[in-house]
Amino acid sequence: MSYLSDIFRGTKKNLWCLYCREKPQTMDSDSSDQEAENYAEPSNQVAEELHDFPTEHKFMYDLIVLGGGSGGLAAAKEAVNYGAKVAVFDFVSPSPQGTSWGLGGTCVNVGCIPKKLMHQAALLGEAIHESAAYGWQIDPETVKISWEALRTAVQNHVKSVNWVTRVELRTKKVEYINALGYFKDKHTIMGVMKTGQEKEFTAQHILIAVGGRPRYPNIPGALEYAITSDDIFSLEKPPGKTLVIGAGYIGLECAGFLNGLGFEATLMVRSIILRGFDHHMANSIADDMQKRGVKILFEAQATKIEKQKDGRLLVHYKNKDGQALTDTFDTVLIAVGRRPLTRELKPENIGLKLIPETDKVDAVNEESNVPNVYAVGDVLSGKPELTPVAIHAGRLLARRLFANSTEQMDYVNVATTVFSPLEYGCVGLSEDDAIIQYGEDRIEVYHAYYKPTEFFIPQKDVTNCYLKVIALREDDERVLGMHFLGPNAGEVIQGFAAAMKCNLTFPKLKSTVGIHPTVAEEFTRVSVTKRSGLDPKPQSCCS
Ligand code: FAD
Ligand code: NDP
Repeated sequence: MSYLSDIFRGTKKNLWCLYCREKPQTMDSDSSDQEAENYAEPSNQVAEELHDFPTEHKFMYDLIVLGGGSGGLAAAKEAVNYGAKVAVFDFVSPSPQGTSWGLGGTCVNVGCIPKKLMHQAALLGEAIHESAAYGWQIDPETVKISWEALRTAVQNHVKSVNWVTRVELRTKKVEYINALGYFKDKHTIMGVMKTGQEKEFTAQHILIAVGGRPRYPNIPGALEYAITSDDIFSLEKPPGKTLVIGAGYIGLECAGFLNGLGFEATLMVRSIILRGFDHHMANSIADDMQKRGVKILFEAQATKIEKQKDGRLLVHYKNKDGQALTDTFDTVLIAVGRRPLTRELKPENIGLKLIPETDKVDAVNEESNVPNVYAVGDVLSGKPELTPVAIHAGRLLARRLFANSTEQMDYVNVATTVFSPLEYGCVGLSEDDAIIQYGEDRIEVYHAYYKPTEFFIPQKDVTNCYLKVIALREDDERVLGMHFLGPNAGEVIQGFAAAMKCNLTFPKLKSTVGIHPTVAEEFTRVSVTKRSGLDPKPQSCCS
């Protein structure tokens, strides 16, 4: 039991005891927030006792983690496994539209989890319509989504994860402090409580894991009237006709599931789709989304958003020819990237180095330029903004700090999936990057179109079901990159990412016996090289 909790338990009976309070009957946000609030408000007396830390410890904690999201929680939970005394600060500032949420960070509350659930809801809608071809007796006219029911189901799941996270911290004896932290000095964090009161907390090591929040473009009306991914998953009213601005992961995924749920979705693309990804695959996603009904405005930029008398939003934008146009939407969702929450930490108080253009933490091996201050997750410069990356880096750092480990995080060949309606999973280099890195002559690109068996009966469009393997021509054809566009792409690519970690070569891939009939087996069947100019279309299902 840590010192802080001892004080709370022993001397402050009116405060919430992290270790003995019964689970509330309901998991609605109010009760959850109330608990957080109670716990987050130690009295002055408690704070004074904390400063007067009596025994062998110089600091109140071995580790203070700023940010209770993917990376921070993973590091905190791992650190206590090795006997460290740990506190996690987590505080969510409401979005400009007033949306707020509980413990667990972006992934759980406004990221991966609610996104995947809404993606799944959209896929189910598609499946219901397909099922008629398989003999299910459905009336397509009566199939429609209840946004309210979906949102409630998603939010109930999110709240249950908030609750489980809190219980896990309690069980593991990690202190949860519902306060906004910032640096007073390199060992002292000031915690701004919900009331505005400030308290001091000290630690030997401090981990920055504060993640990021959506960026807004600098155009009139954006902050006032638009929503972001912070708001969409708990939106009270159905979004209706929606404009999604931004063509990264979030833009594509949101436009994709909204369209799948039956809402008219338009995607506004400033330059290209999915910058940094294999451009052929990215264009195929765009093609597939258009075929499903998403309207894409290429090379267009919004210039103003106005609210009309009827409450709808009038969007002014310029098209690629510089023509000024307008359209009216019920909802405008902005997805133009995220900014790290590092400036709020008062980095100047400890001389913390940030990258000037991005405000991300300049760190090597998660170590900042301030010796006892570390960073993991979305705040790190030049690293993928993905949950498993934050978790893995957080765990390894905790082991290095408290368990004499020397293992470093390997950020190379991290697999990822864009949950567009037809999913795109990839690992390693894109064809474009492989050419830049090795030259066209030194790489071989194997590719194939394929027909998922389950697509035949409902006669689903297979034109974008495609994969490619990029291999070095030397070095026993070591595989440099794998790309898969099709159903369950995330599930498909995960195992191949492990194979690439073990230095997969193309001959080894070819000698792997497939599992039939699956879409993943298509990787074991691919044999046509781009260089050959042969047709990569499928011959038959089983040859
Ligand atoms: P976060 O999870 O953002 O946690 C940071 C926490 O710190 C937050 O709770 C924040 O409120 C809190 N905080 C901030 N400042 C302070 C402060 N000063 N004091 C106290 N607390 C503070 N990744 C995937 O791998 N797969 C996906 O499918 C996926 N989908 C996504 C979908 C969306 C819509 C979004 C937005 C992101 C998605 N991501 C996905 C990315 C993933 O969510 C992030 O990479 C991950 O959450 C980053 O974890 P983190 O620990 O760095 O920060
Ligand atoms: P991204 O950085 O991926 O994409 C931002 C998009 O916004 C780009 O298309 C960019 O265009 C465009 N853009 C930037 N500024 C403007 C502007 N002023 N006007 C119009 N368009 C603009 O950010 P996201 O917000 O989509 O995602 C953030 C991160 O979250 C991702 O990098 C990813 O790591 C993570 N994430 C992961 C997911 C997953 O694993 N499935 C899902 C969702 C998010 P341009 O190319 O022209 O700069």
